[in-house]
Amino acid sequence: LESARNDVCALAAQETALTIAELEPEFGRAVGTLRMFAGLVRAGSTLADIHSPPEAAPIGPNHPLRRILVPIGPVAVFGASNFPLAYGVLGGDTASALAAGCAAIVKEHPAHPELGRRLAQIAREACAGVAEDAVQYLEAPDVHDHTLAASLVTHPALAGVGFTGSVAGGIALAELARTRPVPIPVFAEQGSLNPVAVLPAALGGQAREIAHSLAGSILLRHGQQCTKPGLILLAEGQGADELTRALAEALRAGPARRPLAPWIGSAYLGRLRACEATARFIVGREQPTDGTTRPALLEASSASDLFLSGSESRGYPTLLEETFGPAAVVVCVDATRLPEMLAALPGALTGTVWASAEEQRGELFGRVFGALVSRAGRVIINGVPTGVRVSPAMTHTGPWPASNHPEASAVGPAAVLRWLRPVTVQGTINGDRG
Ligand code: NAP
Repeated sequence: LESARNDVCALAAQETALTIAELEPEFGRAVGTLRMFAGLVRAGSTLADIHSPPEAAPIGPNHPLRRILVPIGPVAVFGASNFPLAYGVLGGDTASALAAGCAAIVKEHPAHPELGRRLAQIAREACAGVAEDAVQYLEAPDVHDHTLAASLVTHPALAGVGFTGSVAGGIALAELARTRPVPIPVFAEQGSLNPVAVLPAALGGQAREIAHSLAGSILLRHGQQCTKPGLILLAEGQGADELTRALAEALRAGPARRPLAPWIGSAYLGRLRACEATARFIVGREQPTDGTTRPALLEASSASDLFLSGSESRGYPTLLEETFGPAAVVVCVDATRLPEMLAALPGALTGTVWASAEEQRGELFGRVFGALVSRAGRVIINGVPTGVRVSPAMTHTGPWPASNHPEASAVGPAAVLRWLRPVTVQGTINGDRG
């Protein structure tokens, strides 16, 4: 894979309209993740072998026990349009499945079919003579045809599904898996609102810097990131106006870009129209008609407007659903109401709080932090949620609708646990306790 770096990044850029500068770090992440899981396998730590030898005062019968982890069996992988490398054919789900000892059967994503085929070819070459069918690839170029996806998920030999994508896609696949004669687990990492709260003193002292950081985070990869900040809650006051103005200025200056795929651009424009029912445009009301899209900033006039249903809803009020693209909603609220508002939001991959050093010692910060912990898989203090480090302490999941498995991270070494199941051996084979 590393020897095909330029080739792979160029193909990804051509098909997704992401830039080489955006794709290079993602390539590094994909290779790094494969190496990380290879390291786990070499160290034997995916086996998590636990022994319970007989002891003086056992709880229950004094059997010698040994607990091991075994692969669940073949895993289907559905990647997302926006991370064609990190969640693609050789992305984190495939890498973690292989590390568990499971074959990975990857369903092609219609937003980047040529890249998928190239990566599948690289996988075949890499596995040749070692594990020929460890990575398999199903071509499925028609975005409207889900019959192949359905036959894969309902195939009797399949043991699990790793899905990264929209909430609607995750629900559809989980339902197929649940109603099989033998149900199997679907680990669905889905879309997320990623709320950001800015406390009064941070706003007073750093409004422009925070606006700059948020704009950079929203504009990167044209906002097509599962961790993009989508809802910004500002404590009412002068700093809130300054931050909103600076954010609007930066987003207005953001470029019109081609989205990952035409249907993703149409969905973005549809979401903006739906949000207009309960929020007003500050930036981005006028959108190009040449297939590109522009950043947008909307403002809800009050906290309660967030909870109003708009013209489109899939279970949450319109402003509380993800808009996949370079758009965010801003709302000013009484600072004392921030904790209760954050606690009432849908589950998210991330939740962010900006607070001054003094504020971090206060009660409001503690309550805001607690509310974010209750609703998100990762809480960010004075930073942005985009940019995911692959490491043992990373949690990449969240309460519904961010994921249907908030206990299982899709990123970091713990991701391998999704494809393993424990087996306890009671007694010994020929007296062997090893
Ligand atoms: P998507 O439209 O849900 O597609 C993902 C994959 O699932 C594709 O292969 C797609 O095939 C398939 N699929 C979708 N609906 C299906 C259905 N009803 N039946 C069978 N297969 C179905 O998502 P996307 O547009 O590629 O990705 C963008 C979304 O992913 C955003 O919401 C983003 O936030 C989320 N995302 C989440 C994470 C995370 O880690 N939580 C990471 C990246 C992206 P077809 O295209 O053929 O339908």
